[in-house]
Amino acid sequence: MKRWLVFILLCCACTGALSRQAVIKRIRTWSGPEHTRVVLDLTRAVDYRVFTLSNPSRAVLDIQSAALTHGLLEATELVGVLAEVRAAVRNDSDLRVVFDLTQPVRLNTFLVEPNTTYGNRLVVDLEKAQGPGDPVMKLIQQPRELVIAIDAGHGGVDPGAIGAQGTYEKTVTLAIAKKLAELVSARPGMRAVLTRTGDYYVGLRERTELASKAHADLFISIHADAIADGWAEGASVYVLSRNGASTEAARLLAQRENSAGRIGGVSLEDKNDLLRSVLVDLSRAYTIESSTHLAQSMLEALANVGELHKSSVERAAFVVLKSLDMPSVLIESAFISNPVEEDRLRSSNYQWQLARALEHGISGYIEDFMPGIELANTHEYVVRRGDTLSAIAQQYSVSVKQLRKANDLSGDVIVVGSRLVIP
Ligand SMILES: [Zn+2]
Repeated sequence: MKRWLVFILLCCACTGALSRQAVIKRIRTWSGPEHTRVVLDLTRAVDYRVFTLSNPSRAVLDIQSAALTHGLLEATELVGVLAEVRAAVRNDSDLRVVFDLTQPVRLNTFLVEPNTTYGNRLVVDLEKAQGPGDPVMKLIQQPRELVIAIDAGHGGVDPGAIGAQGTYEKTVTLAIAKKLAELVSARPGMRAVLTRTGDYYVGLRERTELASKAHADLFISIHADAIADGWAEGASVYVLSRNGASTEAARLLAQRENSAGRIGGVSLEDKNDLLRSVLVDLSRAYTIESSTHLAQSMLEALANVGELHKSSVERAAFVVLKSLDMPSVLIESAFISNPVEEDRLRSSNYQWQLARALEHGISGYIEDFMPGIELANTHEYVVRRGDTLSAIAQQYSVSVKQLRKANDLSGDVIVVGSRLVIP
């Protein structure tokens, strides 16, 4: 064979192997009290095996036919039990990733299928190996229902911001919150709790207390932004700031949203509650980190629906996010002061789009950052009077055909009270 021909054949073999290879685009890490979670963002699903080695403690992840994006290991944040991350190519195209650990772990590894926001992910949970107390720990960690507190901003005597056409913020926040609650509760293993279900006033402190009493795992406060003069558009996501607001606009916004607390005549200051504030401070650092992850996930999901006002998570001193010991975010869904966005906020269709994005943001966060919890990839919907198959399909962004197939239906007849699987 001529030399140039060998060369061409070799090149074909190379590109063939490369195109089949999965690429690890990102490695995200997170640490909780019992687990360290590592999430690998992949271009496709992979075959893998994982095992631990001792003296020194390591976790080894072998992925078939995979490659790393350049500079990824250096950028990986070493948190929790992670001391170092290394990688090597094996058998020409396979990848071995080695996690050097500060202590022995138990592994829980699973693939997560793509949704509209995220691609394929491989999740590796490094669970701190417990001593003799382990069986008790396992009992406590039995799967349980996740509770999502959904807070419709304002209400009753407090209308919130008012749009040019007279739309009240309190009306659209409730409409979006109710739709989000419906989507959340339709997912097996998740339940939504609304801080208000109608047009009445609820104090800011009451809202957080309601969420705490319900043992909520996450707290999502929904609002619509407004600006006195000038043109502004898009959604923003806020987390609580300990050290002042990230921008002047954020400070002013917090002032406006917090003023609701005075309308009901209740002082928000709990000056005598010193002990409580100390305890809150202790848990806050951990909560703010988790909240930022949740906010990032919400932001990525919202980017699929419309414009973002700010592409990064913002920080401000929102009262409604204080004294919460769960990851909490405040969503400014759009600018109600912008007539175009005001129109959108009034439309049921757009409210559903926002609600779906927020639900994706929530489930994305749970899949990536709540170790030990695996969400089912389906929804369940209980048929109500007046529902049609096409309306339900539209609501969940699936086709009528998919809906029929998932539920073994041949026609369009659905029975009130029956449960439909949403694929
Ligand atoms: Zn508001």
